[in-house]
Amino acid sequence: MRICRFTTGEDPLYGVLTGELDEFGQPEEDAVIVALAGDPLYVGVKLLDQEHKLEDVRLLAPVLPRSKVVAIGRNYAAHAAEMGAEVPEEPMMFLKPNTSVSGPGDPIFYPRQSENVHFEGELAVVIGRICRDVPVEKATDVIHGYTIANDVTARDLQKKDVQFARAKGFDSFCPLGPWIETDLDPQAFIDGVRIQTHLNGDVKQDGNTRDMIFDIPSLIAHISSVMTLLPGDVILTGTPDGVGPMDPGDEVEVSIAGIGTLTNKVAQR
Ligand code: MG
Repeated sequence: MRICRFTTGEDPLYGVLTGELDEFGQPEEDAVIVALAGDPLYVGVKLLDQEHKLEDVRLLAPVLPRSKVVAIGRNYAAHAAEMGAEVPEEPMMFLKPNTSVSGPGDPIFYPRQSENVHFEGELAVVIGRICRDVPVEKATDVIHGYTIANDVTARDLQKKDVQFARAKGFDSFCPLGPWIETDLDPQAFIDGVRIQTHLNGDVKQDGNTRDMIFDIPSLIAHISSVMTLLPGDVILTGTPDGVGPMDPGDEVEVSIAGIGTLTNKVAQR
């Protein structure tokens, strides 16, 4: 099931996007969203007798993390290498504030404090229930679904600051979407799912989730051994190699096979 959040100009609603995706992860032209009563994270999937054409709505971030976005650094060896960094012995985590979250089609605002803002295409895991100390073998039980993220990073500030809070935490630095896919088999990511980032149509990142150093169950076990995870919390699983700069006016697309494509444009603040 693909769960989205959308507005027709009125209060936002959750919905289920019907139909198939084409080979580029785009919905069919006549795709329909069936609206839901409430947030399916808390009340389950309750279909309303209300349908909207996808083309008539604006999609919003499919989840609003109540407490946090936990991001994993250097989870692909080739990306660690391009940063001139070692592969960590344990998952390296940092937080992005929930105020950095934005939706598909929303602008990524180029902050005046930076002169080197990078894209980082990533697979995002949405947590479905409150949990802590989750064992690896139970980790998939706490997953609500999967979506796509851009872990936007002010690379110059990341190098300058010891902490990543500023470099990774600006408003609009965590686009999520376009929807949450709830039906993927977690084993698929271990077997390998392609993740690509295009900038103005040119391929910049072409990675595969099989190259993650720490797989998703290991990440959930590790993070939840430190902090309680809440429904709607999001884990960014790290970026493949090929990260690079974006400028105002650029369009960045992150695509993950079986999920879809997250598209955003960079804008001057
Ligand atoms: Mg990242």
